[in-house]
Amino acid sequence: MLAGAVLPAILLLMKPEALLYSTPKGLYCERGDFYIDPVQPVDRALITHGHADHARSGHARVLATRETLDIMGIRYGENFCGSAQSITLGESLSLGGVEVSFHPAGHVLGSAQILVEAEGTRIVASGDYKRRRDPTCLPFEPIPCDVFITEATFALPVFHHPDDKGEIIKLLTSLTQFPERAHLVGAYALGKAQRVIALLRETGYHAPIYIHGALAKLCTYYEERGVALGDLRPATIDNSDRQSFAGAVVIGPPSAFADRWARRFPDPVAIFASGWMLVRQRAKQRGVELPMIISDHCDWPELLATINEIAPSQVWVTHGREEALVRWCELQGIPARPLHLIGYEDEGD
Ligand SMILES: [Zn+2]
Repeated sequence: MLAGAVLPAILLLMKPEALLYSTPKGLYCERGDFYIDPVQPVDRALITHGHADHARSGHARVLATRETLDIMGIRYGENFCGSAQSITLGESLSLGGVEVSFHPAGHVLGSAQILVEAEGTRIVASGDYKRRRDPTCLPFEPIPCDVFITEATFALPVFHHPDDKGEIIKLLTSLTQFPERAHLVGAYALGKAQRVIALLRETGYHAPIYIHGALAKLCTYYEERGVALGDLRPATIDNSDRQSFAGAVVIGPPSAFADRWARRFPDPVAIFASGWMLVRQRAKQRGVELPMIISDHCDWPELLATINEIAPSQVWVTHGREEALVRWCELQGIPARPLHLIGYEDEGD
């Protein structure tokens, strides 16, 4: 055999830490000269999804799915970046010799994991993701890789999210029990609100659902992208029509619940749809009467199942409870480390 004709594959691999590493601006790929979900304005940003902590305005160039770009446009205005380029899921693009491709993350409409590949080394930055069925977005797709970068929002063994259907039934039951009260559901404007509406519709609830003005554009956009939300009406109220909201479902962003807006409804039932509603103390602090545990993130068993399924050689853990998941990986014999990225306070949970 000729010397050097067949090099052991290991010598050809690029060290993952050289391909992608943490900087104060976010995850950086030096070879391709791009950042993933940077928290400060950069020359080139690849964006996983439209939540405000991942998708910021002011970058010179942005590469993302069509939906994420549209959502950024809706939230920040058309001039949210210098130039925007859309990428189709599964399509591969070369940036300075680094191959990048986007794959469904199952988190919100348009959300994607980003696969970064060079010299045989594959890293998947999954952004935020979940494994449950969600009628408003494509399901998470496991992508084989050497390094899987996972979020850790609910990465503690105590976090087991119940079945979504049961949580929706709680709301339906309350509507039957308290037909004279308005049911005010706090839900994040991107993803959660539309998911709660779609889940309600799946149970056969076809009455009008009233939405706060902050949700209107995003709900319209979801409908344009084929997510049916049924009869939605503006939740604007004056004193003459207070009673028309008796027994109605009203959805607004959590921030609106401290406003005068919320106090105008007749004897409202305060509801909040969030993974954090599993923590009784949080529900109590917010004055939530009916907590609905519906999360757009993985719970602990789903995080472990995903890592087992992908079987990466390394796991990097970011935003959330990094230590517990790193420790679990080590106990399984999977090298793992926290990325210590800063600036991600998840907007949707
Ligand atoms: Zn998110």
